[in-house]
Amino acid sequence: MLDVFEIVDPRFRELILPIAWLERLHTGMRWCEGPVYFADQRCVIWSDIPNNRLMRWCEDTQAAGIFRADSNFANGNTRDRQGRLVTCEHRTRRVTRTEPDGSLTILADRYRGRRLNSPNDVVVKSDGTIWFTDPTYGIASDYEGGGAEAEQDGRYVFRLDPRDGALAVVADDFDQPNGLAFSPDESVLYIADSGGIGREAGNRHIRAFPVRADNTLAEGRLVTAVTPHAPDGFRVDEAGRLWSSAGDGVHCYTPQGELLGKIRVPERVGNLAFGGAAGNRLFICGHTSLYAIFVNTCGAKAVAA
Ligand code: MG
Repeated sequence: MLDVFEIVDPRFRELILPIAWLERLHTGMRWCEGPVYFADQRCVIWSDIPNNRLMRWCEDTQAAGIFRADSNFANGNTRDRQGRLVTCEHRTRRVTRTEPDGSLTILADRYRGRRLNSPNDVVVKSDGTIWFTDPTYGIASDYEGGGAEAEQDGRYVFRLDPRDGALAVVADDFDQPNGLAFSPDESVLYIADSGGIGREAGNRHIRAFPVRADNTLAEGRLVTAVTPHAPDGFRVDEAGRLWSSAGDGVHCYTPQGELLGKIRVPERVGNLAFGGAAGNRLFICGHTSLYAIFVNTCGAKAVAA
């Protein structure tokens, strides 16, 4: 318990609460991913990919249960500007939106007439555009969705305009693009490349791309490598720091890529999300369990549309 925090840089001390501890909220999943916090429902929704279900844990009852069985092997989740759940689905190789009546709207499933690989993680910008990564993990085996051939020529990062359905490639030089998040002012898009998972060679890093006024990306820069394992999902806090998943827990980096410290988690971490009433609680998807810990910062607030 005493070793939850690993201080690498003294600045990390201001971001943690020495009396906070890592709580295991629920366990029994096979591979957790895609946490998203619903402040209006005081709950977290996340994916249990190989079990083909979306889970939900509620703060009021402290109880977890299945939110959606047969989730089409859902992975990343977020909310759009209207508060609707937006989900990446592996098996159906698409991005969907859950409407207030519970029905699903397909937002994207093809690019230039060919099926997507398997959308992995997703974020919504303040202008309503939906940005998502499309690596091949969900079609690599039946375990995470369904073994199938890739139809795309690459593993792209896409920008979708839900108003007209226009889908555009914003980055095409990734090995396996994975988690993604905007800086607090949305002037920078961070994207993880987890191409090194399952291979000795391959990328294990996060890159940063300036976002132009026309929503294209300028030349990117390397922010940091993330090891052990590789970066999967990550989030940005109110000061622009990156909180990334890693093989040994959660790593906190400055926007320049300096490692400030770690939250040690007894399982490999796939993704995380800020939540709680004050936005200062990190919900962490370990391999088989959902964890939470309070920190002394909060997630980046959405900028005004
Ligand atoms: Mg991911």
